[in-house]
Amino acid sequence: MGWRAGNGLSIDIWNDAWISGPGNGKVSLEATNRQLIVVADLINVEDHTWKEDLILSVFNHQQAAQILCMPFPENGAPDLRIWRGDRSGIFSVRSGYRWLINSTDDSSNDPPTVEETWQNKFYKYVWALKLPSKIRIHFWCVINNFIPTFSNLVTQKILAQSQCLLCQSDCETVSHLVKGCSFVQKVLSELRIFTCPWQPEQSFVSWLFSAFDSLNSTARRTFVVALWAIWGSRNKIIHEGLVQSVREVVNFCRIYIKETDASFSFSTTTTRTNSGHWNPPPVDRVKVNFDTCFDPTRLRSISGIIFRNSQGHLLAASTIPNPYVMNPEMAEAIACDQAFILSKELGFKRIEVESDALLVISKVVNPVNGRSELGAVYSNILVKRRDFEFLCFSHVYRNRDNAAHVLASVGKHNPQFRVWIKEAPQPVEEAVSRDKEWFNPLN
Ligand SMILES: [Zn+2]
Repeated sequence: MGWRAGNGLSIDIWNDAWISGPGNGKVSLEATNRQLIVVADLINVEDHTWKEDLILSVFNHQQAAQILCMPFPENGAPDLRIWRGDRSGIFSVRSGYRWLINSTDDSSNDPPTVEETWQNKFYKYVWALKLPSKIRIHFWCVINNFIPTFSNLVTQKILAQSQCLLCQSDCETVSHLVKGCSFVQKVLSELRIFTCPWQPEQSFVSWLFSAFDSLNSTARRTFVVALWAIWGSRNKIIHEGLVQSVREVVNFCRIYIKETDASFSFSTTTTRTNSGHWNPPPVDRVKVNFDTCFDPTRLRSISGIIFRNSQGHLLAASTIPNPYVMNPEMAEAIACDQAFILSKELGFKRIEVESDALLVISKVVNPVNGRSELGAVYSNILVKRRDFEFLCFSHVYRNRDNAAHVLASVGKHNPQFRVWIKEAPQPVEEAVSRDKEWFNPLN
């Protein structure tokens, strides 16, 4: 557990874990200043900013930078206890293990126990699987019971019945869909995946770890693809009323693996297929695209924000340099916040915000909790939503957000705060006219 600074009054500078970024969150031993007691002593009360000179004089260079990168809630809210393993701030099995991996990678503390080593190994295997990320992510969800099985939906009171559609006998839980279901067992045995037996008293996750360990690398990959294909087959029954046979699922897996083998051997970078082009907003709205460039060595970023109307014409564009930025997610969250500030300044009341910053968009659309390290930035964004008559967000792929990307790159070479009205630097204007080629404005 650790802290996220609000007003800083509850956090002991020297003994609590409160510093974001790598390390255990505690101040390094060499730093001292007896006059400073709580984190509030490091904060300018009037404008909720860090006392930069003081921090640079007390802490070593790295920690000073980490502290200065930490965002504040603008309203001076109290400090929050957070789980420090995950940026979402919610403890989960996954973040617990990731935390373990990261702490042991530092190799600074105690030697890892046998169990930790195995968990590290397991997660490294999963990441290293030569499979599209959607399939690896599905496997993550399986491990963490994040998939919306009937049993999970019943628990959340969304559904009344929970019978498995594949075998129509048992309750559909995650462990049923991996191990218990007769349909699943048939698919796995056709694919020659023989997992170890589930010991009594063993938890599902612990069984899954040992099952995975007992397979060779080819079988591991097939296993993960099969679990994804089975879940897809189950969804086909729900959404399309289409019931697949064991044979069909098995064939699908075989072909799928063959195809991904081919694509991974030709190229290690998967190019995303063109999933559409920039679309103009309706007549009464302004579309805002933002993107960022993050410099991990100097911990700073550039936001590129661009405003266009229903005809695709450029209304305004801006580059904003930001010092003390912790990571790419923070860079994107800051850019989103700045997109709101500029929209308001420029008098745009009805906006559609679009970006390829998936994490930021999803957190702004669905603010689950304010306990992440970046919670302060998100809560600042959420407060600003009230300034608008109409506001919607969407996540788009990079090729629909290209003009903003070009703008951020321009800013990277000339890191200045600039606002252009009805114009933009040459490469951005070119990207804007390319976007216009893909649609015919109705008016
Ligand atoms: Zn079943």
